[in-house]
Amino acid sequence: MLLTITTTHEPATDLGYLLHKNPARVQSFTLAFGEAHVFYSEVGEEKCTAALLLDVDPVGLVRRGGASGFGLEQYVNDRPYAASSFLSVAISQVLGSALQGRSKERPELAGQAIPLEARISALPCRGGEEVLRSLFEPLGYTLTSRRYPLDATFPSWGASSYYTVTLAHRIRLSALLAHLYVLVPVLDDDKHYYVGDGEVEKLLRHGEGWLSAHPMRELITRRYLRHQRSLMRSALAQLVEPETPQIEEVILQHNLEEAKVEEKISLHQQRLAAVLAALKESGARRVVDLGCGEGRLLSLLLQDGQFTEIVGMDVSYRTLEIAAERLNLEYLPPLQRERIRLLHGSLMYRDARLHGFDAAAVVEVIEHLDTPRLAAFERVLFEFARPQTIVLTTPNVEYNVLWESLPAGSFRHRDHRFEWTRAEFAAWTQEMCERFGYQVQVLPVGPEDARVGAPSQMAIFEAHVKEIPREHDSQES
Ligand code: SAH
Repeated sequence: MLLTITTTHEPATDLGYLLHKNPARVQSFTLAFGEAHVFYSEVGEEKCTAALLLDVDPVGLVRRGGASGFGLEQYVNDRPYAASSFLSVAISQVLGSALQGRSKERPELAGQAIPLEARISALPCRGGEEVLRSLFEPLGYTLTSRRYPLDATFPSWGASSYYTVTLAHRIRLSALLAHLYVLVPVLDDDKHYYVGDGEVEKLLRHGEGWLSAHPMRELITRRYLRHQRSLMRSALAQLVEPETPQIEEVILQHNLEEAKVEEKISLHQQRLAAVLAALKESGARRVVDLGCGEGRLLSLLLQDGQFTEIVGMDVSYRTLEIAAERLNLEYLPPLQRERIRLLHGSLMYRDARLHGFDAAAVVEVIEHLDTPRLAAFERVLFEFARPQTIVLTTPNVEYNVLWESLPAGSFRHRDHRFEWTRAEFAAWTQEMCERFGYQVQVLPVGPEDARVGAPSQMAIFEAHVKEIPREHDSQES
């Protein structure tokens, strides 16, 4: 397990004074779980890098009774290589003065923000990069990470949960160390020692000045205290401002949120949840799902009493049969059965059955239509069916570069005729608004990447004029 800390503050060799470790020698320390070594891999006026290397002894751990688990797990595990709570112990025992912000020779520098970069060679991140970023980025770090494959010889086995992580920030060294002290075990989510009351005190001490304002403070607290509710409540009660009353509720809420992140809910489920939320928010009661496919959204709509009339339409008869089966239409109690209908039809044609709905959902459908069909569909939907609300989703093609399994330049589905960038989708939605008298809000769906955005995009249209602009009156469908 290797942690390096680099500074470009000049003279960079002052890092030695801040860490209380002489750049000229290697120093070794015996800790309960093995050996810690501190040495410098680069020593210069402009740049200086100190390394903390932990040599965890799994066999010694077992002998001393410090390891749990059964059988071989005690001996064969990731602890010697992965950053974990052992790193926190080493930070506090080997770099204790630096962690407390004390420096005999350079007291002012210890209280000063300087350019620092920490690199951890193998950091296990439960919840993946999303959780990793959500922990460090709110603290101001620029984070780069690289995920390791499970086994480089067998790429098909997929990715591991280990990352090489670099954190860069202009910050006090003691603050950087405190962040690592708390957040490394939180990411690992597997503490090696017994968690007792002392842990609450440690969390509060090292979290001082940053944890109470951290947007992920509940997750941090919960994981740090190993999911022990009474300890968590005690810590949160001391962290959370008094006006935040329902700590229990906050915990439950965040449990749910994390469960969601960690289950890696499929993108499609996220998309359907976003569409459902938008439909609910619109106040719609009568909803039509255009291109309903196998009826996944219909089934969510059916579970919600707000929706009194639910219609699914698709051009594929076979798909509708599958939808009917999935929805158990044959066996629904009469009151439920009356709420839902499936229609066989095409979105290319003006269809009286589509008139008069409060809202229409069009989920991952338009990218299946070629240009002339899309043009026909635009009028069928916005001009003739003309629901008050339209919730429409389509992929964001920019995000495709982040899917390793997708060959460069290809679409996500063989049947897609196009996939749009965010700008292209925004331009299309604007055009629809101008031509047909709607206004629109476009939202990302799924985890957002700073560069390429989210994997999917959703437009929520609201009709704001009863009559559409004149020019369309003379046109034929
Ligand atoms: N909305 C569903 C299915 C998306 S797949 C979901 O999100 O799960 C696209 C669907 O659009 C398919 O079921 C396909 O049959 C349907 N479709 C494609 N062209 C269509 C057309 N012209 N009219 C109606 N449905 C169409």
